[in-house]
Amino acid sequence: MPDPGPFADIRARAYKAAWALENEELLRERKAAYHQAHKEEICARVSAYYREHREERLGYAGAYRKEHTDSARAYQATYQMQHAEELRAQHTAYYASHKDAFRTYYDAHGDKIRARARARRLENLAEERARDKARYQANRASENARNRAYREAHREQIRANAKRHRQTPGCRARCARQKAERRALGAVPATLLESLKLRSGGICPYCFRPIEKGSLDHVIPISSGGTNAPDNLIWCCLSCNHRKRDRSLLSFLILLHERFGCWPTGANCWKPTRMPNQLQETRVETACLYILLSARL
Ligand SMILES: [Zn+2]
Repeated sequence: MPDPGPFADIRARAYKAAWALENEELLRERKAAYHQAHKEEICARVSAYYREHREERLGYAGAYRKEHTDSARAYQATYQMQHAEELRAQHTAYYASHKDAFRTYYDAHGDKIRARARARRLENLAEERARDKARYQANRASENARNRAYREAHREQIRANAKRHRQTPGCRARCARQKAERRALGAVPATLLESLKLRSGGICPYCFRPIEKGSLDHVIPISSGGTNAPDNLIWCCLSCNHRKRDRSLLSFLILLHERFGCWPTGANCWKPTRMPNQLQETRVETACLYILLSARL
């Protein structure tokens, strides 16, 4: 065998490089095939390396991000926007497979997590509220169903929360004040109550739905100087009464109108039946007109 000479190594390398340049495509294919065939092994090796050099890597990444905060954030945002579907699917899958771990963590750190969420919400309260409202408006049926399901599933907890709330000083004081105001007005005579129920005809004058659970409403709230005079009393459904709280009649009607985007019509209450445009021109006029139309006061 002849002596390859002192430059054999360099020559071989040059040949190899030239060949690689010519056969780029082939090499890429081979490489991909190799990767495909040894995928698990390679992944294991890479993750072992990552695990071993974790601190170091995190240090690099952290330092880089600190130095390039804006561009890193922009890159992340773009990436997230471009891969939104994929990322969502990944998160859902990850959550499903780690549900127990999440639950355990939440149980252990619930207070901290809730406090952080509350603080974040308070920081952007107006924005958050607008977003909630928009979401509700866009998905009213499903949101209502979800809320109902939640209330049914957490009935005991909700009741306990309400009880705890009633025992807080502010709520107790308000309750005591309301009770005192009611006592000062005196009881509504049973005969008056009966005649009010009769006058309602079993239909709530606010929402026009048949009254299942009825309640006595002060049209002008007691807190605004309303009395137990027959003119000021009305028999309505409990949910309307709860919704009205201590609002004036006008602001309650406006609230209903804003919430449902329409006025109730006797036959099909709260179906989006809009009043003619000219009647919507001023809310106050519309509300007064509505009161007159309902003719139950
Ligand atoms: Zn009602």
